[in-house]
Amino acid sequence: MDTIDFTCRNSKQKSKARELLFISQNGMCFYCGIKCSQSKTADTVDERNRWFVLDHKIAVAKGGNSLFSNLIGSCYLCNQNKRDKDFDFNNKLFL
Ligand SMILES: [Zn+2]
Repeated sequence: MDTIDFTCRNSKQKSKARELLFISQNGMCFYCGIKCSQSKTADTVDERNRWFVLDHKIAVAKGGNSLFSNLIGSCYLCNQNKRDKDFDFNNKLFL
């Protein structure tokens, strides 16, 4: 998997990566542990906040790559809150 660079705008690869992460994380957000939704439809803000989206462990802005090993899945809300913040993976805290 690490030979695939997900920076390219290949939506098929991206959805494959999201699918694999969804399975390996049991559909839960990496950060807050909320049960995410794989569908991209939402009637309410709460539903939208549970979308399972791809995120980078090390932000691209901070020099992180888009290889599979640098990707995790998070809920839409955490993804929005994180932005370019660093994440302490030992203590599970945004810095
Ligand atoms: Zn979350």
